Amino acid sequence: MVALAEQTAELLHGLGVRLESPGQHALTVRSPVNGEMLCDVPTCAMETAFSAIEAAHRAAIAWRRVPAPKRGELIRLLGEELRAHKAALGRLVSIEAGKSPSEGLGEVQEMIDICDFAVGLSRQLHGLTIATERPDHRMMETWHPLGVVGIISAFNFPVAVWSWNAALALICGNAIVWKPSEKTPLSALACHALLERALTRFGDAPDGLSQLLIGGREIGEVLADHPKVPLVSATGSTAMGRAVGQRLAARFARAILELGGNNAAIVTPTADPDLALRGVAFAAMGTAGQRCTTLRRLFVHRSVHDGFLERLKAAYASVSIGNPLDGHLVGPLIDAAAFSRMQAALDAARTAGGTVHGGERVGIAGCEGGYYVRPALVEMPGQIGPVLEETFAPILYVMRYDDLHEAIALQNDVPQGLSSAIFTNDLREAERFVSDDGSDCGIANVNIGTSGAEIGGAFGGEKETGGGRESGSDAWKGYMRRATNTINYGSTLPLAQGVSFDVG
Ligand code: NAD
Repeated sequence: MVALAEQTAELLHGLGVRLESPGQHALTVRSPVNGEMLCDVPTCAMETAFSAIEAAHRAAIAWRRVPAPKRGELIRLLGEELRAHKAALGRLVSIEAGKSPSEGLGEVQEMIDICDFAVGLSRQLHGLTIATERPDHRMMETWHPLGVVGIISAFNFPVAVWSWNAALALICGNAIVWKPSEKTPLSALACHALLERALTRFGDAPDGLSQLLIGGREIGEVLADHPKVPLVSATGSTAMGRAVGQRLAARFARAILELGGNNAAIVTPTADPDLALRGVAFAAMGTAGQRCTTLRRLFVHRSVHDGFLERLKAAYASVSIGNPLDGHLVGPLIDAAAFSRMQAALDAARTAGGTVHGGERVGIAGCEGGYYVRPALVEMPGQIGPVLEETFAPILYVMRYDDLHEAIALQNDVPQGLSSAIFTNDLREAERFVSDDGSDCGIANVNIGTSGAEIGGAFGGEKETGGGRESGSDAWKGYMRRATNTINYGSTLPLAQGVSFDVG
């Protein structure tokens, strides 16, 4: 196989990335596939971050005057670039984030999907007309751009999350400034280069409309603190969201927070066992447990528990673990620190009375520098200890339940609230689960696992997951400000609520 560094250099070249000399403060990028160094990337100095935000601010003032459907044309062109370079960008994501080819390509497809969605949306940014109590008056809502939207993203979806934010923010008339994960700057450089190409083809977009700032948390903090960034959309751990959210709240700026999940599924007595097994296996082991929507807790009804667990153990024992670029289903963890956190969680589970199956490091020939693990199944006596936390690795805690209300209560009884699922063929159980009395998560599925959302719906979660919504439905409203306008087309001035104030 051609060395990954060499492949990466070719991919970057084809995607239009011209790397500058890394200079003093270089970021060394490694592939989690085998630990190989891919290249050094220059990082952004503080003063560059400040001037980038100023430039984006100037661009936003011009961009907001471009009609929204015309702004949509830019995103249509971005979608074309993504379609043309899907294979290369997907491969780059696979190398840099350690995903299988189908998952790397799937992430780019998600970008294409949000571009299509945003193009249509650019003709649908609508407000209400509302009945007014005053004669010869009209009341309506109008939606306006915010200005500069800051985007902070995580390593595990290095390109899709940016596109969810970028496509909506841009058609809504904002400029964007992106601080990607320091673990995946190459995919970010590639996205930025593709958007630059779309901007060149677009022709007359203002300079500085899209900015990319490579660096660590200190650059994210600049976005969180800068008075010319009225909205920051931040995706990552709950610890990061807590820090960023407090900084934004301190200056009354807006936040879209997309944070950690601790997602659960319930397998009921009437569940289709084959469908449930496939749904659980993909949600728990896919992307090596490194999706925010990864299934981490499983409640199985006592009457079907033992049989289901046996089948699950067999699936876990037989899943192919190895180089994701060769199509293995379970690829590597992102780095050594992720492996240590996984082992610490498994130790804590044992201490709490859990029985652990799997979880050990697996040696892969030719990928000795990568951190591959057998996904872990942990039989737990109850929802205690590490079960209450998100460990960003493939660990599935399995517990029994007797009564659906008890299972739903346990499912909800964690600090996080991102995704949830029930496997059942009982209409009452399914409806209960999605009712007011059911799952408290932002995503509640029936006969589908917790992961693998599509862009048409709003994406996000409750409680410590942050409460933000991105992507489809009316998530666009988060990128705009609403004004209520009342217009008097009569010749008198009736006051609301019958108030009189006669002067002169
Ligand atoms: P992370 O929190 O370590 O980093 C995420 C981003 O935040 C990075 O760009 C990082 O540089 C930046 N950052 C970290 N601390 C910061 C601070 N104090 N101020 C400003 N910026 C800061 O997360 P990660 O390890 O890259 O990603 C995994 C986490 O992301 C998991 O918890 C996962 O559940 C979560 N995630 C959530 C979603 C979602 O939509 N809910 C999607 C993907 C990932």
